[in-house]
Amino acid sequence: MAQQQRMGGQPMFILAEDSQRTRGEDAQSSNIQAGKAIAESVRTTLGPRGMDKMLVSDGGDVVITNDGATILEEMDIEHPAAQMIVEVAETQEEEVGDGTTTASVLAGRLLAQAEDLLEDDVHPTTIVEGYHEASALALEAVEDVTLDEELDDDLLRKVTESSMTGKGTGDVDAAALAGTVVDAIRAVDGEQGVGRENITVRTRTGASSSATELVEGVIAEEEPVHEDMPRSVEGASVAILDLDLEIREANIDAEYDITDVDQLNQAIEAEESELRGYAETLGDAGIDIAFVTGDVEDRVGSYLAEFGVLAFDSLSDDDAGAIARATGAKTLGSVDDLDTDDFGHADRVRVERFGGDDLAFVEGGAAAEAVTVLARGGTEHVADELERALNDALDVATAALDSGGVVPGAGASEIAIADHIRSEAASISGRKQLAVEAFADAVDVIPRTLAENTGMDPIDALVDLRSLHEEEGVAGLIAEGQTGHVDDPVEYGILDPAAVKREAVESATEAATMIVRIDDVISSS
Ligand code: ADP
Ligand code: MG
Repeated sequence: MAQQQRMGGQPMFILAEDSQRTRGEDAQSSNIQAGKAIAESVRTTLGPRGMDKMLVSDGGDVVITNDGATILEEMDIEHPAAQMIVEVAETQEEEVGDGTTTASVLAGRLLAQAEDLLEDDVHPTTIVEGYHEASALALEAVEDVTLDEELDDDLLRKVTESSMTGKGTGDVDAAALAGTVVDAIRAVDGEQGVGRENITVRTRTGASSSATELVEGVIAEEEPVHEDMPRSVEGASVAILDLDLEIREANIDAEYDITDVDQLNQAIEAEESELRGYAETLGDAGIDIAFVTGDVEDRVGSYLAEFGVLAFDSLSDDDAGAIARATGAKTLGSVDDLDTDDFGHADRVRVERFGGDDLAFVEGGAAAEAVTVLARGGTEHVADELERALNDALDVATAALDSGGVVPGAGASEIAIADHIRSEAASISGRKQLAVEAFADAVDVIPRTLAENTGMDPIDALVDLRSLHEEEGVAGLIAEGQTGHVDDPVEYGILDPAAVKREAVESATEAATMIVRIDDVISSS
């Protein structure tokens, strides 16, 4: 429907004729429904007993995951308000790496509560204000429940393990993986905080998840240019070359240049000596390992092998960056004037074969403490989900160390948040109080969902949680085997980073208040 206005008697079209417009309560209600629906779709995956989702793309690709952000990313979502919930999950994933389901479920519940308030004639602006006040109270509560203890390895392992439980990683030993994650974090933990960018996760199929290991260095998905090259070099000088090692100018140019056999032989010799020259130059400069971004001609490869140089070609930008950071090698654009100062160093460079592919291990780089977690899985699906779980766990440990410690998990923090908001709501006047209380009710969705997914009665669970919280100040829903019970999650090592809770509250509030404020949807199609 085109929007028409009159100006000086002439009709003026301010919108394209085929644009769609929905206004007022219709717009609000359609947005709220869409947002709620999308949050609802990931609800069953929350917590250790959460189920997995299988997502099938148009092309038939299958992803099996329990990760909220991945699910929402894979789903083809068109509705703009639903898209905002997807963005909540994305922001959460980017900022803290975990809590994506929590954040989107909370956003959906905030919308559902807002819908009720709107029906009771609470103005959208009042809802927005109330939600913002409640969100500030929630952050206070997160601060209050943050554990005082220093984050030692033991505590760090617990947070890491909590973030991995319930991931579709098969029968992985979560404790062992958590140990690997903490070792990786400690290897790159310095005065500037955790150098998270120096930890990479690589996957390889062909072994069970328990074969997952920490490599003290960088692993590049590259294979040697020539089979006669050494497959392991100790105390290696490493060069990164951003060029092609091939004939610069064709010596055997066009047919009419060559008039007799001697000339041809000369041209061939000139080529050979140019190709051999590369190998000689690199060998003489003392380079043991050459990582080349461009092509390396086969003949150069065999000359390099003769000089005992291990070379890799068509290096990816990621690998080049990682190797440069780890070894301290500068990227060189030419082989003229090679200077040892520009080379990097590694204790060992070795090539290992995994399931038909070679991997280059660059260990003990001289410049930075780069490490790699080599994740193994029986199948690609298992390895991929393990990779996601490990990356989340690494982010979680980083968030716990660098941004504000850990809080009790298993719904305990949410029970504390809701309790704090309710007790402060009493002093807030007018209808805004209703919105603040509605926010507290929305936060209950997390423990309630954990209860449901554990097969417990959600109402009984909430009652028990609140009463234990009243007595002890901390109460969570411990999932064990096929059921669960109410207890202190800290005793069970169930902990989440405070940053995950803060980010979830902030991004869910932001999305929900944004959607509630919209009363006009104009889409040009
Ligand atoms: P998210 O995407 O929000 O991280 P998860 O499926 O990872 O969703 O579930 C996280 C929630 O599960 C957190 O609230 C966490 O405290 C809780 N949790 C983790 N382990 C347990 C456990 N053993 N028992 C109960 N809750 C747990
Ligand atoms: Mg999680």
